[in-house]
Parts: sequence; structure tokens; C-alpha cells
Amino acid sequence: MDLDVVLDQIHAELQPVIGSGKVADYIPGLADVDPRQFGMVVAMNNGDVHATGDADTAFSVQSISKVLSLALTIEHSDDEIWRSVSREPSGNPFNSLLHLDQEGGRPRNPFINAGALVVTDRLHHMTGDASAAMRDFVRRESGNDLVDGDPAVARSEAEKGHRIAAMAHLLASYDNLVCSVEDVLEQYFWQCSLSMTCREVALAAGLLARNGARADGTRVLTTSQSKRINAVMLTCGTYDAAGEFAFRVGLPAKSGVGGGILAVIPDVCTICVWSPGLGPSGNSAVGMAALDSFTTRTGWSIF
Ligand code: GLU
Repeated sequence: MDLDVVLDQIHAELQPVIGSGKVADYIPGLADVDPRQFGMVVAMNNGDVHATGDADTAFSVQSISKVLSLALTIEHSDDEIWRSVSREPSGNPFNSLLHLDQEGGRPRNPFINAGALVVTDRLHHMTGDASAAMRDFVRRESGNDLVDGDPAVARSEAEKGHRIAAMAHLLASYDNLVCSVEDVLEQYFWQCSLSMTCREVALAAGLLARNGARADGTRVLTTSQSKRINAVMLTCGTYDAAGEFAFRVGLPAKSGVGGGILAVIPDVCTICVWSPGLGPSGNSAVGMAALDSFTTRTGWSIF
């Protein structure tokens, strides 16, 4: 199978709908992104990379960063994080405060905002600088020494981030943050503002397709830890559409409100697709269609 041809076919098939969906505008720094963009990259475990469309245009990774912060946190503290964060789908919006208060400050999973705050808190505590740890990791794996957060996006989210600030304070009230609320929010906004291309995201997440190993073979996670992250991506990675996503695509995935989706085929490859318009559940509408078409055309899914 020629994956370059497959990707070009998907791009052509989706041409009529590229631009559909609604760009996230609750973060002012994302509101002006042109929705008529589409990029898709498949990064194979053997090092081959296949791409189509705007594969080298940087976008705001937003919640896709939560996968990387989780991986680095587990690298530093083994499975400690699972004492403070659960791994059940929430059934509530990713930014909801409801369960958190009802369940004593223990977030349902690491991919809703409350869980991600706890993960970032622990990473910051253990490394002394969560953003530096993440920056080093993504630069090394993506091969681009210039990958960084976008200060304007981070600032605009901070200015409007009353709900997430409330969430961080609620976590602190339950003693589920080690660092200060201010530090955790700063680190969280920075990681969400990471500006990366589809190619860079697919390469940076390659450890999840390689059972926890970096591109050079050195280990970040054990096979079991990598499997667990993929499992949580499958059940909790695509907001309240994880069931629909598993039904249509059949892969572990994490989406972000910047319109990117990272998907993993263990032992084979990672895929990153980006198109900014979001569907009703907050996942990239065209990105989800592209992954649906990819697994249908290739027959590659975990099921
Ligand atoms: N920074 C965004 C927020 O906290 C991330 C949302 C997302 O991509 O799911 O609202």
C-alpha cells in the first residue's frame, strides 16, 4: 500500500468539506485561524514519514499536549500519578467542575482539564520546570529546535481562563496540587499554546507507537505504561465523543481545540491530522472524517 497515495486520496475526498465546523473562539488567540486548512501526517515506526496538505503549518496543539505531559510525568514518577487522577471517561464537558467537587478533588481522567492540571503540577514539581521538560522532549523527538509555546495564545487564554483558574483553586482546596495555583496555570497555558506542525506532533508522540521508546530506542515508558496511556486515549481522548470516535476510527487518539488530532497505531505509526473547524463535540470535524477514511482505506485499527 502506498501511503502517500492514500493520504492524497483522503485529502481529495475531503476537499468539499474542508473549512466546515467552527473554530474555537473561547481562547481569543485561536479565533482568527483560517478554517480552510488541512494537514495530515503518518510517521511510521521505521522512520518513514508520509504527508499531505498543510502538514508543515504550525497550529496550537492545545489538549494534545496533555498526552506528552502525562508521558513525561509517568517517566519521572512511575505510576504515582494514578493515585491522584482516575481513568474513567467523565461524561461531562472537559472543563466541567461538577465531578471534581462531588468526587473530593480527584479528577476523572488526565485528559479533562482538571486531570491535566494535576499532571502538569506533578511534572513541574518533579522537574522544577515542566515547560522546559516538555520543550526539550518535543524538540528532540520532532527534530526541530525551535518548537515552542506561543506567548500570545497563552496570554489570551490566561486572560479569559476564569473557569480553569477556578478548577485549579478547587484542586488546591482538596490538596491535590503540590505547586502554587499560579505556577500550575502558567505551565498549563504554556503547554496548551505549544505551536507545532502535524509532522512534529506525529514524531513527538512516536513513543506511544513504539511501546514507550524514543526514536533513538531509549526508553521513556515501559511497555505497560505506554499501553495504559493509549488505553486512556481510547476511552477519554476525544471529549464526549470517545464512543463515536472508537466506533468510526478505532484508534487511541487525543484531540485539541486547535483542531489537531493525534492518533496511535501501536507497533506501526502515529498519525496527526489538523483542520481547525470543530464539530459539536469539540473534535476537528474534518480531522475525524480523515481518520475515519484512513482506517477504512488501510484496514489499520486496533480492532
Ligand atoms: N487550553 C484549552 C483549555 O483549557 C485546552 C482545551 C482543549 O484543547 O481541549 O480550555
